[in-house]
Amino acid sequence: MLDLFSIFSKGGIVLWCFQSTSEIFSPSVNALIRSVILQERTGNNTFNYNALTLQYKLDNEFELVFVVAYQKILQLSYVDKFLNDVQLEFRDKYKNDLQNNSLIMDFNFRSTFDRVLKECEVWAKSQAKLPKQMRTFEDSQKSKKTVASMIERRGEEKSKKSVKIVENKNITNGKVEEAAKIEDDVIAANRAKLAQKLATKTKKDVKKSPKSPKNEDRVKQPRVWALGGDTRDLPSLDFSTDKPEDAEDNISADTELVGKMTGAIRDLEVESEESSSEEEEEAREQPSPKKSGGMFSIIKGLVGSKALTEDSMRPVLDKLRDHLIGKNVAADIANKLCESVAVKLEGKVLGTFDSVAKTVKATLTESLVQILSPKRRVDILRDCLHAREQGRPYVMAFCGVNGVGKSTNLAKICFWLIENDLTVLIAACDTFRAGAVEQLRTHARRLAALHPPRAPHAPAAVQLYEKGYGKDAAGIAMEAIKFAADNRIDVVLIDTAGRMQDNEPLMRALAKLIKVNEPDLVLFVGEALVGNEAVDQLVKFNQALADHSASSNPRAIDGIVLTKFDTIDDKVGAAISMTYITGQPIVFVGTGQTYTDLKALNANAVVHALMK
Ligand code: GDP
Repeated sequence: MLDLFSIFSKGGIVLWCFQSTSEIFSPSVNALIRSVILQERTGNNTFNYNALTLQYKLDNEFELVFVVAYQKILQLSYVDKFLNDVQLEFRDKYKNDLQNNSLIMDFNFRSTFDRVLKECEVWAKSQAKLPKQMRTFEDSQKSKKTVASMIERRGEEKSKKSVKIVENKNITNGKVEEAAKIEDDVIAANRAKLAQKLATKTKKDVKKSPKSPKNEDRVKQPRVWALGGDTRDLPSLDFSTDKPEDAEDNISADTELVGKMTGAIRDLEVESEESSSEEEEEAREQPSPKKSGGMFSIIKGLVGSKALTEDSMRPVLDKLRDHLIGKNVAADIANKLCESVAVKLEGKVLGTFDSVAKTVKATLTESLVQILSPKRRVDILRDCLHAREQGRPYVMAFCGVNGVGKSTNLAKICFWLIENDLTVLIAACDTFRAGAVEQLRTHARRLAALHPPRAPHAPAAVQLYEKGYGKDAAGIAMEAIKFAADNRIDVVLIDTAGRMQDNEPLMRALAKLIKVNEPDLVLFVGEALVGNEAVDQLVKFNQALADHSASSNPRAIDGIVLTKFDTIDDKVGAAISMTYITGQPIVFVGTGQTYTDLKALNANAVVHALMK
């Protein structure tokens, strides 16, 4: 029944292999290594690849991977047991060789393999005959909750974190729906914070944002203009309501930004992260009667065994998971990450307790950096030049829900492209929301004024392609791309209407726009303020693009623009949730309301803020 069984080292040496068919399995095993083992998704031990199911077990002491592959249509109840048993037999038999690192030798394992497999098949048959038993208390989730994980410690800021603590308890109990409700409260709290921030800014002569602090209505609110002439010359990009007459006045304020965005986008810096050294961090971790000592002083003393087992890591992992959720990582993803760390570390032999906490933390940190590091290169400037050489425009489409900052960040990206000597056409394909076209017109006018043509007859740095409201967005995008090709414009930026992920007709329209126009880059714009909601949005956007594309190889989201990063302090978890769900890079980070507030993600800085 098993098509393949293989034992290989994490370094890539195949120690032993059994194959019952002549099928070539290397693509499926390679995909497992690439998409699961290297990408920190080892929490779940099953991976589907075409018609095959692959199940695996990691031996972390000897750095081995045990893999079986079988046809997806089969339901083999013994595979988990088989993997456990076969791993134990292999370790017992070759312990000395493995300890001496003699991996290149003849592992004569066939007879043991056959015996273990037979025993497991017999066991599965006997299990099938047993009447179904009720779950015992020991098997239940509740029994796994340790007293330690329920104790609230002094020093934890109760008032600030009360929402999160309730949320975490619910999740520990498996009540994910309740957690989702609380997540709404968290978003509302985040939004209130943002509103407060913006209000403080207003005191400092910064324009008020029109956004409502409430979460319920994501519909665009009418813009509230601050009174008095002195607020009008600030370089805020909030043009959600058209104010063309202001545009000219404001240009003078923006001119100092010109020339600041040449070359690749600068890296994001997360407050004072880089400066703190490893030693300082360790010093912080030392329990001190004066200091609260941070998260890791809390988990010290909870675990004391030498070999890392699931049980011995559990309290540490529970704390880490709660910590991640507190930093706005979606609950489900925080769970998966911690499970993946548990799988990765189980069986590792360690000396003291201190190294348990440190090892778990280091492994999680490593996994987070890995998740945030782009799997593929996105070099937009180079790709634009390449497209220009081919005599066609480079096309980027922006999608996302309402009010997340699509138009504003599209304008910032446009500014960056112009600064790099590329000409841009903005395609106003949000034909749905009143004011959307005018908002882009204002941006286009300001951007063009900031970068006047260098020669009398040179084309404008940026133009707007608009056809008003109510028309088919896919058609307008197509015309815009043709217009850009005819007029040798380098880049087309397609602004699409904001839509909720559950709005089927609008999602269908978006899938059509993407299918018909085949943009080079489909960017999902999402706010850094969201937690669990980010996952829901991304999953559903990707799903809708796949469902409505009517193609065997549908287009999905290629990258993420993470906006409003300036409003979240160190609650940077949305970056992890979004990249984990899509496997796609965060290409731009929006950090404010001027044209230069656009950064590239710095994985190390974000992870540092996350683990702080
Ligand atoms: P759209 O409906 O998705 O096109 O959203 P808009 O571009 O109209 O932006 C909605 C609001 O978010 C506006 O008030 C913007 O000024 C604000 N905004 C967009 N990006 C950022 C950002 O990176 N930081 C901050 N603080 N505000 C932003």
